[in-house]
Amino acid sequence: MSWLVRLRALVAAPLAGLAMLLAAFPASAQSIIRDTEIEGIIREWSDPVFVAMGLEPSDVELLLVNDAELNAFATRGRIMGVNTGLILRTQNPNQLLGVIAHEAGHIKNRHPMRDGAQAAGAQPFWMSMALGALAMAAGAPDAAMALLGSSQYFGTLGALKYMQSQEGEADLTALRALDRAGESSRGLVQFFENFRAQEVFSDARRYPYFRSHPLSSQRIEALRRPAEASANYGRTDSPERMAQHALILAKIHGFMDHPNATLGLYPETDDSLPARYARAIAWYRAGQTEKALNAVDALLEGDPENPYFWELKGQILFEEGRPSDAVAAHQRSVELKPDAPLLRVNLAHALLESGDADNLDAAVNQLKRATAMEADNTMAWRLLGQAYARQGKEGEARLASAEMYFAARDTQQATQFALRARDMLERNTPEYRRALDIVFASGATQDDLDDLERRQRRTAGVQMQPVP
Ligand SMILES: [Zn+2]
Repeated sequence: MSWLVRLRALVAAPLAGLAMLLAAFPASAQSIIRDTEIEGIIREWSDPVFVAMGLEPSDVELLLVNDAELNAFATRGRIMGVNTGLILRTQNPNQLLGVIAHEAGHIKNRHPMRDGAQAAGAQPFWMSMALGALAMAAGAPDAAMALLGSSQYFGTLGALKYMQSQEGEADLTALRALDRAGESSRGLVQFFENFRAQEVFSDARRYPYFRSHPLSSQRIEALRRPAEASANYGRTDSPERMAQHALILAKIHGFMDHPNATLGLYPETDDSLPARYARAIAWYRAGQTEKALNAVDALLEGDPENPYFWELKGQILFEEGRPSDAVAAHQRSVELKPDAPLLRVNLAHALLESGDADNLDAAVNQLKRATAMEADNTMAWRLLGQAYARQGKEGEARLASAEMYFAARDTQQATQFALRARDMLERNTPEYRRALDIVFASGATQDDLDDLERRQRRTAGVQMQPVP
């Protein structure tokens, strides 16, 4: 599991509404978790539902948001965010799938945005307007109060009704797609009911706002009746899926919770696979490296072809300052799962840190393949820039930096680095043309370029002057 500090796709865009909402959460709210195993499982469940909904799965970007709050959102730009806090509160795979289907319902229906952030295309659709606001209220009362008082964000009563009708529409779109994909919609109903009953209802009643806008039992009824009538309502999750769900939860607890909390939740008396997995991660995070390595080796003994156990082993060795040992473990994970860009990035990182100049070509090769599969992977571009710099390929290094900023939607930096790359790269090579593409794709006009070059020349001139 790796962490991106900034939103992978939303980063640096002028998202006033989103920024305001995120400000109501702890700083960690903006970090996105990347984990090949969890992403793979969730996509395996969700993609057929997206297809049944008429969405192209590859068009939907599904982000795991590192945030303990119960929340999820979808944007018109087909980005869906699901908080780890929500995942941990699902009791079975079908509940998580139900929520994802609901969010996809917003995407499918292209629900319009609600205020000034609309144009930016990234304001979250909360799982339900009322439910989402309640979750915020539970986590950060002061901030939530401020938000609730902000007519700019929450709008009028009329807007709330409008949004509630969107929730109903997303529910029904989800329900139909789930049924068409042969999935039960019971999880969606269950999750809303549990949420309403257990989570934040009593806290929320303190707010006058919710006295006049109680959580809509009408909405849940409107969902429950057609859900119960659907052909697949009675279907239950397979044992395999239940195991996958338990594994996702174990991994999130392992990586997110304090190690002591994880070890309390998964005591050594628990010999199940998720418990052993969670403990290995907790020991690693607690700095008990030998214990962690022994635990991973025991996992590998039971399943030597598991790429994620090898990934974890590589991660532990890498963090322990043994990059050369990490190389072998990551190499194995890549061999076992060659189509996973993140595993290649791990391997490249270990190759780079090994300090062996002979490993640079291999690192570049891995990073090229990773970025070919995932062009917006900023970490991969950053490492590629480093690898090229160590090879003395300055133009290529600048181009990789330009790609990194381009992926992060930092158009100004992308343009600057692309221009520097252009000046260093051989004319009419694919790299040279790519640098020009980035300059223009970043929205720079010829005037901008002239202006930038003038400023660069001026700066260079200043630097060359002797110190007085
Ligand atoms: Zn919703």
